[in-house]
Amino acid sequence: MKLYAPSTIKEIREKHGFRLSKSLGQNFLTDKNIIDRIIESSDIGPEDLVIEIGPGIGVLTAEAAQYAGKVAAVEIDRNLIPILEETLAPYSNVTVINQDVLKTNLTELVERCRGKGGVKIIGNLPYYITTPIIMKILEDHVPADSITIMMQKEVADRIKAGPGSKTYGALSAAVQYYCTIRQVAAVPKEVFVPQPKVDSSVLKLDIRKQHPVELIDEKMFFVCIKSGFGQRRKTLLNSLTGAAGLSKDAVREILNAVHIDPVRRAETLDLDEFAAIANQMTEHIKNHQE
Ligand code: SAM
Repeated sequence: MKLYAPSTIKEIREKHGFRLSKSLGQNFLTDKNIIDRIIESSDIGPEDLVIEIGPGIGVLTAEAAQYAGKVAAVEIDRNLIPILEETLAPYSNVTVINQDVLKTNLTELVERCRGKGGVKIIGNLPYYITTPIIMKILEDHVPADSITIMMQKEVADRIKAGPGSKTYGALSAAVQYYCTIRQVAAVPKEVFVPQPKVDSSVLKLDIRKQHPVELIDEKMFFVCIKSGFGQRRKTLLNSLTGAAGLSKDAVREILNAVHIDPVRRAETLDLDEFAAIANQMTEHIKNHQE
């Protein structure tokens, strides 16, 4: 059965009386080439565990199951569970978990299901929670090798953006700190049923084994990024004042010590500069506590 064919999707919906939920971001993929690109670039081996987020009716799941040791697919919509039981019946290595991915302990899921191989996360993400899903995986340090995911083009562009670009922000800096990023495909809105309003992109995020900057305290690095971009029009002197309880004078002293002009804005800083400021903040706080 060609699960990705619009006629199959229609047949399944009619048979099960399934109504698509707009609020759950249900836009099903109908293009075999894009499905193949996601699976091929995920580089799935026979000992690997694949975690899929939002399997829908199982187009990516069925494909991944043919290459992986195991697939664990997390789907929030309980109306899709009987459908998945049917469409994935030929694959004994698939487990479907009826849960909200944002409330799922993915580290525990990986530990419970992983085999001898790697861990690959895939998905055509529900667009209303793309950023929280990515940040949850990264901030929780889920032990995965890579995340190959479809998202709205605009979010992918923000993730890829570098300093000086209008779309460079906290999301770009955070994802670039944790991962190396590669665009796998540009995807037009016409290949989904129902058709969303925006185009999409598939990104492969390879989780770094070693971070690109040395930090005394990772939390301080993120305080710095979040405060800096929280008020991105403000100068660093103003946007960082109050971060970690620091006074304006302290922030001025910290920026001077790392030779960063206090009138610059967060959107001009690269990861090395954020790290320098964060490390200096950590030192400053330590020295003033003693
Ligand atoms: N993978 C399928 C495909 O490519 O055709 C479906 C993708 S669809 C864009 C997103 C899927 O994520 C839907 O099946 C939706 O029900 C599911 N979903 C939405 N919110 C979710 C959540 N919080 N946790 C898990 N799954 C979710």
